[in-house]
Amino acid sequence: MTKQTNLTKSSLLVAGLLLGTLASPAFAGTKALHCGAVLDQPGTNPRGPSTILVEAGKITEIRAGLDAVDGAKSVNLKDKFCLPGLIDSHVHLTSELSSKGRLDAVTHSDADWAMNAVLHSRRTLMAGFTSVQDVGARGDDAIYAVRDAINRGELAGPRIRAAGKTVSVSGGHGDGRHGYSEDIAAALLSPATCDGVDACRRAVRENVRRTADVIKITATGGVLSNTAAGTEQQFFDDEMRDIVIAARLMGRKVTAHAHGKSGIEAALRAGVSSIEHGTYLDGETIALFKKKGAYLVPTVLAGATVAIMADDPNGFLPPASRAKAKVVGPLMLDMLRRAHQGGVKIAFGTDSGVSAHGDNAQEFVLMVEAGMTPMQAITAATVSAADHLEMSAVIGSIEPGKHADIIAVDGNPLDKIEALLDVGFVMKGGKVYKNKNTK
Ligand SMILES: [Zn+2]
Repeated sequence: MTKQTNLTKSSLLVAGLLLGTLASPAFAGTKALHCGAVLDQPGTNPRGPSTILVEAGKITEIRAGLDAVDGAKSVNLKDKFCLPGLIDSHVHLTSELSSKGRLDAVTHSDADWAMNAVLHSRRTLMAGFTSVQDVGARGDDAIYAVRDAINRGELAGPRIRAAGKTVSVSGGHGDGRHGYSEDIAAALLSPATCDGVDACRRAVRENVRRTADVIKITATGGVLSNTAAGTEQQFFDDEMRDIVIAARLMGRKVTAHAHGKSGIEAALRAGVSSIEHGTYLDGETIALFKKKGAYLVPTVLAGATVAIMADDPNGFLPPASRAKAKVVGPLMLDMLRRAHQGGVKIAFGTDSGVSAHGDNAQEFVLMVEAGMTPMQAITAATVSAADHLEMSAVIGSIEPGKHADIIAVDGNPLDKIEALLDVGFVMKGGKVYKNKNTK
């Protein structure tokens, strides 16, 4: 009996010693981010000095204070402000507006568009945007290939939720054939251009077959299509209704590009989940937004960008686009002011590709100019955008179980939103992609 007890005692001692040596390796694969402050849940007050533990790509714990964690690899962000990776709900990674855009449309291969997206994805990530929604891509499958390669960890870029080809009516905003000769136009006809409910159902289904995560439609005319067809409703009500149903049957949401009041409201009535741009929304539109629970993605940066281009006498916008840009561009800041005051749910989105990729954070400055507090603007780009992208379970805040998508900046962006224009530290999925401190 005594012998046994002694044996047990010594086994316990050995086990204890083993555990003792194992205690630090328990954190061996862990990164410990020591942050001066952490906005872990945008919308609520930030924490003071804290340590975020990250293991296997996920956040495992947030500890108060800056104590070293045994065995964990420390990342010194003690004089930085940490917050969740930013989310841009409206980008076009395969292209960027330039004087050669119309030539690219007829010279680029799918591989060329993919190469663009690789470059732009990297810039976007380095600007602190760890997730994006790509709402309209050039090339057949380029955006999907880039999305998948990023997900496999082979490329540096944000998590991408992709719409693929924009669903548009013939001659509408998303029909890329404007201004080309008929033989070229025939070659440019997209399978996502549709007229009538049958064709529009098919366009949705073809996009889903190509692995689209979300369906993007152009409910109204738009600024940068080379056609003098205005910015009001373009789809018929029954076409939009069937697009939404066809998408829902395959588990997809629909987001609608819309400027004119008629088209915004028709799209909302048809059941789209969100509106991109929203330029001419008014009190009635705001009430409809709230009744439907739809998000607005304001893209004020795109408005500001095209307004500047329209005023440039040496600019490259064709006359039809220039005329629309002059009218629509300057209206967008006030649109956001009305929507925000009216209580519309807002998800951050820039339309990058109109503006330069990597400049996404400039939208924050415009949001604050439109009357949002820095906290509200940051919430739109984290918690709200994650909800809008149906990814709230995995991104949008710093909390145990979510992807370790964490950025850090100098200064407090809640005091001065411009702090977000220079993101010095970017972690996505637990991997550090940028750290100015260690350069
Ligand atoms: Zn867009």
